[in-house]
Amino acid sequence: MKISDIFKTKKPVFSLEIFPPKKNQGNIEQIYTTLDGLKDIRPDFISVTYGAGGNLADSSTADICRIIKDKYNITPLAHLTCVNNSKEDISSILKMLEEYGIENILALRGDINPDIEPKKDFRYASELVSYIKQSGNFGVSGACYPEGHIQSASLVDDILNVKKKIDAGAEHLVSQLFFDNKFFYNFREKAEIAGINVPIEAGIMPVVNKNQIERMVSMCGASLPPKFTKMCSRFADNPEALREAGIAYAIDQIIDLISNDVDGIHLYTMNNPYVAKKIFDAIETMR
Ligand code: FAD
Repeated sequence: MKISDIFKTKKPVFSLEIFPPKKNQGNIEQIYTTLDGLKDIRPDFISVTYGAGGNLADSSTADICRIIKDKYNITPLAHLTCVNNSKEDISSILKMLEEYGIENILALRGDINPDIEPKKDFRYASELVSYIKQSGNFGVSGACYPEGHIQSASLVDDILNVKKKIDAGAEHLVSQLFFDNKFFYNFREKAEIAGINVPIEAGIMPVVNKNQIERMVSMCGASLPPKFTKMCSRFADNPEALREAGIAYAIDQIIDLISNDVDGIHLYTMNNPYVAKKIFDAIETMR
């Protein structure tokens, strides 16, 4: 099923994001443990991240999407980055996705690795969106950034660049994580003014340990509101309390988003079914 069709029949949509197990931490079979834990949540779709290194020999994103579709009967969304892939590389990945019956792709540029010279065929995600649209009958989604992408000069500049993805054929947006809903509402209002008229899902990451907070903030530059930093420092030395407080914080954000008519919630599960399940149990009656 195309993700754009799910949004035509349901609001809010609830989706989950997982990542392929790291190569040095076992094999792809591990993903069954994660998916067995997540299936009872009955998500509308599950997205699977893609390594920006663009290693063509690594088909784990496509393989996991196939498992989600065939074994769990859930719609998969395959992430795909272009910064380190040529047009030929992308074509062979699209061929594989088509053979596997995967209909939805989250088209991304990927982060630029200072140690790897980017390939020249795609500079921005919007160029990948166009290429996918010309290549087959895929539903295409794109990323957006409620506080602006870390490399963009301003939020407005970034929103105008997001609009290029929509003009190229993207039918749905998934947002970067944020800890203060006011950024999401501000982004949504400006996006509407810019003529972005596709469903925008809010990306929510429950923060459940200290390392995760530091890593996430350095990677994506999300602002940390005082309510959030106070929570982190209060429970810094009590991992169990921090995890439960992080879950409660995410639930609070989600309830506020639903109350404010959000199109969808995309939960960054970090492959942690316990956390995802606690959150979805808490909002079960709002679905
Ligand atoms: P783009 O949309 O190309 O934007 C990148 C920058 O270029 C922005 O600053 C934008 O304003 C600017 N820009 C865009 N178009 C133009 C233009 N025409 N002219 C001038 N400037 C322009 N990374 C992974 O490696 N794997 C994943 O699986 C993955 N999944 C993600 C999922 C979500 C929901 C999100 C939010 C991010 C994800 N990322 C992933 C991270 C993403 O690859 C990085 O944030 C990357 O730096 C930008 O990707 P993008 O697709 O948003 O790029």
